Amino acid sequence: MSVFPSIRLGSKGHYVRLLQADLNGLALNYNGFALDGYFDQKTSDAVKNFQDRFSLNRDGIVRNSTWKVLVDNVLAVQKLLNQNGYHAGHADGWFGAATTAAVIAFQRAHGIYPSGIVDPRTRQALFNPHDKDHYQDRPTSAALESLNPHVAAMARRFLALTREHHMDVRIYTAFRSWSDEDRLFAQGRWTPGPIVTNARGGDSYHNWGLAFDAAPFENGAMTTDVSKFRLMGQLGKQAGLQWGGDFKSIVDYPHFQDTFGLNTWDLLNGVRPPGE
Ligand SMILES: [Zn+2]
Repeated sequence: MSVFPSIRLGSKGHYVRLLQADLNGLALNYNGFALDGYFDQKTSDAVKNFQDRFSLNRDGIVRNSTWKVLVDNVLAVQKLLNQNGYHAGHADGWFGAATTAAVIAFQRAHGIYPSGIVDPRTRQALFNPHDKDHYQDRPTSAALESLNPHVAAMARRFLALTREHHMDVRIYTAFRSWSDEDRLFAQGRWTPGPIVTNARGGDSYHNWGLAFDAAPFENGAMTTDVSKFRLMGQLGKQAGLQWGGDFKSIVDYPHFQDTFGLNTWDLLNGVRPPGE
C-alpha cells in the first residue's frame, strides 16, 4: 500500500489504470472516462467526487490517503463477493476482470442489470441483503412526513424562519424515489437536457429522506431571483441544514440536507441515521 505513487492530472501508466479500474468498478465513472491509463480531466473529476464522499481533501491528487480509502472499498467488495460464492479472485484491491465477472454473476442472480459495476442497488444487495427498510420501493413525495424526523423538524424550523422574513418558500421535493433518481441521472447522459446530478438511484440523500428541495415563490410562481435563493439558503443554514448552494461539485440552490455524517455508501451498506 505504502509503495503506491502519488498521481494527478497528467499522470499516466500502470497506477492510473488501477485507479480508473477501481473508480469505474465502484460506479464513480459518472462522466465516462476511458480506462486507458491517462489521468485526464474526467478522471480528475471522478477522484474529486470520491474525495468529497469520504471527506478527504478535494484536490484531485491520489496520494496515500486517497489510495487507502479507494483500495479498502474495493477489498470490501471483493471479500463479500468471495464469501458469497462469487469468485472475485484474490482480494487485492484491484477491480479487474475477475472482480467484474463476479459482480456480473452476482447481479444476474439478484435480478439487477448486469453492468459489472457496483452501482447503488448492487451495493445494497451485497452489503445489506436483509434490508427491511424498503427505501428503494418508496414513492417520490413533497410531504415532510416522507423525511427522517430530525430533518423534517429542521425543515419546519426553516419554513418558520422564511415566514418571519415574509418569504413564500415552498418545498417541492422531499423523498425522491430511486427510479426517479435514475431518470434524473440519465438526463444529459443518454436523455436530452443538461446534467443535473451525479447520483444514481440510491446515491442521493433524497433517496433516504435526508434531503429536500425548496424555492421562493413570488406571485404564485417560482422566482428566478438568485438573491432570494441565497437568502433562503442562509435561513436553511440557520435552521441547521446544509445548503446545496455551498456545494463544490454541482451547485444546487434549491437543495437542503442533513447527512448525520454518513455518506450514501454508509446508508446503502445498512447504517441508519438516528431516529430510524
Ligand atoms: Zn435536492
